[in-house]
Amino acid sequence: MPILVMKFGGTSVANLDRIQRAAKRVALEVAKGYDVIVIVSAMSGETNKLVGFVNETSPLYDAREYDAIVSSGENVTAGLMALRLQEMGIAARSWQGWQVPINTTSAHGAARFIDIPRDNIDGKFAEGFQVAVVAGFQGVSAEGRITTLGRGGSDTTAVAFAAAFEAERCDIYTDVDGVYTTDPRISSKARKLDKIAFEEMLELASLGAKVLQTRSVELAMRYNVKLRVLSSFEEPSDDAGTLVCAEEMIVESKAVSGVAYSRDEAKVTLVTVEDKPGIAAAIFGPLADAGVNVDMIVQNIAESGYKGHDGGVTDMTFSCPVDQLARAEKALNDAKADGRIAFDRLEADTDVAKVSVVGIGMRSHAGVAAKMFETLSKEGVNIKVIATSEIKISVLIDRKYMELAVQALHDAFELEVEG
Ligand code: ADP
Ligand code: ASP
Ligand code: MG
Repeated sequence: MPILVMKFGGTSVANLDRIQRAAKRVALEVAKGYDVIVIVSAMSGETNKLVGFVNETSPLYDAREYDAIVSSGENVTAGLMALRLQEMGIAARSWQGWQVPINTTSAHGAARFIDIPRDNIDGKFAEGFQVAVVAGFQGVSAEGRITTLGRGGSDTTAVAFAAAFEAERCDIYTDVDGVYTTDPRISSKARKLDKIAFEEMLELASLGAKVLQTRSVELAMRYNVKLRVLSSFEEPSDDAGTLVCAEEMIVESKAVSGVAYSRDEAKVTLVTVEDKPGIAAAIFGPLADAGVNVDMIVQNIAESGYKGHDGGVTDMTFSCPVDQLARAEKALNDAKADGRIAFDRLEADTDVAKVSVVGIGMRSHAGVAAKMFETLSKEGVNIKVIATSEIKISVLIDRKYMELAVQALHDAFELEVEG
């Protein structure tokens, strides 16, 4: 029997009615003759609630217990989905990560898959089971402890199962009817895309578009999983949603395909550091050791007379996720205290956001950066840091201008019209 993977996000399983609605979708696919692997998230809000419990109980928590606690939301929805399917006469059972087993590394809170042996679930399908409901977001380490894959990780569970079971397709059911040119909650002019290239989706996801977890897109690209994003609230149809696919299948010819934003950024500047070989390594080494994900980096030009010095000093600025700021500050201050680096002052700005334009068309269109900067300047938005790659340009700006910047860029690159 062909295998289909269907993943339901938090809003799609937010209460018993919605679980029933999702179960009906599963039943439709079972009726078509598929063996279905259903991946469920926790009910919406549940994981946040559990994370809150952990932080309140123990701010410097044991990450193994964090995972044991925050993974539990998915156990509830997996069981409820299996029960609902049984009520509909479908042979279904639930699986927690350790039962499959979903083997992961022991990097608690950000674990990665090692492998997903098929034998147990294949055995059940062979016995006549029609649906395996698997709790998303979780796995088990070699030490036998429960792990989680990072927020939004159920998407990655779904794609990993699609790859491991050679599924015909991986359908990600969520609360929007596909991938849009930007977050439809920020711009009413956002347009739904029929298709988006893996590379573009990867950039959009890693730059903040949370509709798919970044790792899920990486895996889909690596294993060539046919990945579709669609709404669990709309009537079923064969061409619903957005297909995430290889670049060759895309006909749009625009320079920019989408605008992403990330609200949760912090900007750190080390004022007056020595400008000499090895200084960047001395700064970013301790940050890496502390697990800080440094994103954008700027080093000012050091010139003679800079800040009253004879030369040989500069400022170093970088951005990182705002929830890693405390760790970054500690790592840098520790390195300063034991003489590994020297700087006058550390300035942290937490009122910043990152806005990015993404498009594979940038490879062949010139002038995208100029247009982006001109658009922001017309709106009076000051750019603090810039980063570019072959298919994206990101800027760090004051957070209060974030929505304005997204909308202005969406207009400037004419994303509301097909091209
Ligand atoms: P789920 O709980 O189903 O996993 P998420 O909340 O994680 O859903 O992701 C869906 C949300 O992603 C949407 O509600 C939307 O606000 C947001 N989003 C951000 N950027 C985009 C985009 N470019 N296209 C579609 N949705 C986006
Ligand atoms: N429930 C987890 C979260 O909220 C995983 C997921 O929904 O993908 O992050
Ligand atoms: Mg999600």
